[in-house]
Parts: sequence; structure tokens; C-alpha cells
Amino acid sequence: MKRISIFGATGSIGQSTIDLIKRDQGSYNVVALTGGANIAQLAQDARDLSADIAITAYDDRLPELRDALSGTGIEAAAGQAALIEAAARPADWIMSAIVGAAGLAPGFEALKHGTCLALANKESLVTAGPLLLAEAAKHNARILPVDSEHSAVFQGLVGEQISEVERVIITASGGPFRTWSTEQLKGATLAQACKHPSWDMGQRITIDSASMFNKALEIIETKEYFGLSPDQIEVIVHPGSYIHALVGFKDGALMAHMGAPDMRHAIGYALHWPERRDLPVERLDLAKLGSLQFEAPDEFRFPALRLARDVMQTGGLAGAVFNAAKETALDLFIAGRIGFTDMAELVEQVLAQMSLDLSHQDVQISLDMVYEADAEARARVLSLQARA
Ligand code: NDP
Repeated sequence: MKRISIFGATGSIGQSTIDLIKRDQGSYNVVALTGGANIAQLAQDARDLSADIAITAYDDRLPELRDALSGTGIEAAAGQAALIEAAARPADWIMSAIVGAAGLAPGFEALKHGTCLALANKESLVTAGPLLLAEAAKHNARILPVDSEHSAVFQGLVGEQISEVERVIITASGGPFRTWSTEQLKGATLAQACKHPSWDMGQRITIDSASMFNKALEIIETKEYFGLSPDQIEVIVHPGSYIHALVGFKDGALMAHMGAPDMRHAIGYALHWPERRDLPVERLDLAKLGSLQFEAPDEFRFPALRLARDVMQTGGLAGAVFNAAKETALDLFIAGRIGFTDMAELVEQVLAQMSLDLSHQDVQISLDMVYEADAEARARVLSLQARA
């Protein structure tokens, strides 16, 4: 039986993972499930899957979780230390699907124990990519990409040499504001930003898709995970989201990965890797699709893409600052305190303010430095917003 844990079990990726597990429950021994505020879902899944332990990220929600699990024999725990302790429990496969930089520490801990980490939490690679990969190598652990674009590239590289790759093209749906003008974008509302045309995802990544911050994170994630140079990574807008990524080789061949926009595809690939198993995803009917649409991305209307290039150029702690500033600006947008286009402006200002300290070309970056840069970037966004 495969021992598995799911971090971020109550979220969109977590629930898709659980859907796959429940279809073949006899093959899995569920060690830990973690969630945040959705205690009812966490307790229900822990019961259904007979998990050893369920953990909420929030200390004050522990009594509620204990109540919901009473009489089951399933352990209940809460808080950051409990998440880290759960990540250290022996498991063959761990899904990292907490949203945001909060996902970094449990994933890092899991790697120390040589597990196979299915990484949906792109923020881990953006904020601390080199550290994470070094930790995996040190402990003979494996990181498998779950982001659909990165899973697609990973699959496109099976049997290939990375040295023969000329470029990687990741697709972007363009989000709900693909055709909007800059003036229209200024007035974009939360409800409008939460309507993704092709993917069904958590609220935060959905808004990040509308602003293209999600694609910006993914460009950096591509660089870190595959060890490519920034000029080898391209983005193409492809509204249908049927092609997830393309790998271009030095002989000019371009290998595309296609599939229905359903995250159970990439999750299932990581779950069963290196095998392929039957997955409950729609099979594409190409004749019905008829044609595929592509457009160049617009870095003027969606400055997050341009900022991602600056971040890769700077290196060092720039990814941590970029992500933390983006997360804080996103919180402010969700709270109705800033407009849609203010998010990119705030992130750009914070990157500019901190640029002198960021690159650390000659310094060995530590996790503590990542957390410090993260905290400072968050504080700077709040201070800039307070002064506006
Ligand atoms: P959701 O918002 O749907 O779920 C996030 C999960 O993290 C929930 O279980 C939530 O708990 C938990 N959580 C929230 N805050 C914290 C915290 N501070 N500490 C610990 N746990 C917390 O996110 P998604 O599933 O959409 O995304 C998860 C990750 O996967 C993100 O990094 C995202 O970028 C990435 N990803 C997502 C895709 C998708 O299709 N959704 C596609 C590709 C990548 P609760 O809900 O109980 O509060």
C-alpha cells in the first residue's frame, strides 16, 4: 500500500487528489490530511479515508476539529509545528497543495525524509527553488511537478536530454480579462476576476490568472525546476487551455502536451509516475475542437509577465520578494482596499525599493533569508498602501 499525505487537502488541488484516491482507496494508506479553515471538509475526508492524523493550520480551530473527529481514533492537531511534524511522518508520496508561501516549510521538511513530493505549490520553487532542489538531492528525494504546464514539460522530456532543449513554451488561457483594455482593467472587480474561462481552481490562483501573476510565477517555476535560462522560456496565450506546454528541441521539433483542462490529469500523472494509469478525465475530440487559437501575451496590459523577467534576471531573493509582495497585494485586492491594476504597481514598487539587496550573487541563500525577505516585502506593500 502506498502511504500518502495531502497538504492543502481541503483546497481545489487537494480535493481533486482525494477524488483520485477515493476511486482506488484500497491501494492507499492515508497518513496525514491538512487544511485551514474548512474543518468540516477536513474531518469528513479524514473519516472517509481513515487518515492517521488531520491538521488544521489554525490553532483556534483545533477544538472544532477534535469534536468533528471524536470517536474515530483519528488524531487531531493544529498549527505550524503540527504541519511540520506531519510532513516528517513516513510517507511514500506527499501532495504539496497549500496555497502561498505557507506551503514552503512543510514541503521542505518532507524532502528531508526522502519522500516523493508532488509539488502543486509553485510558490515553493519561486521563493526558494535552489534550496528546495538542493534539499531534494541531498536526501535522495524526488520532486514531481503538478502545475499542468510543468507536468506537460516534464512529460515532454521523458527520454529526452535537457541539453537538447532549445525552448519551452508554456500556455496561458489569458484569463477573463484577455481582451480588456488597460482602462477597463483598472475597474475590474473581484467577482469578475474570480471567473476563469477554462479552469476551475481556488480563488487566489484564479485571480492570479486574471492578472497573469500566475503565469509570471510559472515562468520562474519553469526556470527553477528545469534549470533553463530565462530566454529559453516563452509564454503563449491559448484561450482553450487544451495545450498545456510545448517543448522545442534544437532540431526545430516542437512537442505539445494536450489534454482537457482538468487538474486530475497532472495530479494523476504525479501519483502514478513512472507509470500511466487510467484517469477519469475527458478525452479530447479534436474534430469537435476544430482549431486552436494562439496570441502573443501583452506585457504592457499584464505587467506581471515583465516583472517575472526582472525577477529571474536579479535572482537571489527576488523570487521571495516578488511572491510575498504579490500575495499581500492580492489580499488587499480581495479585501477591496486596492484596485486590480494596483497589485502589479505595488509589486513593482517593492521590487524597486529592495532591488539593491536582492541579488546576493555571491552569498549562500538560506531559508531564514527567504523568510526575512518575504516578511519585509509584505511590510513594504502594506506601508506603501497605507501612504497612498
Ligand atoms: P485553494 O485555495 O483551493 O486551497 C488551498 C489549501 O491550502 C486549502 O486546503 C486551504 O485550507 C489551505 N491553506 C490556506 N491557507 C493556509 C495556510 N496559511 N497554512 C496552511 N494551509 C493553508 O488552492 P488551490 O488548490 O487552488 O491551489 C493550491 C496550490 O496549488 C497553489 O500553490 C496553487 O498555485 C497551485 N496550483 C493550483 C491549481 C488549481 O487548479 N487549483 C493548478 C496548479 C497549481 P482551507 O481551504 O481549509 O482554508
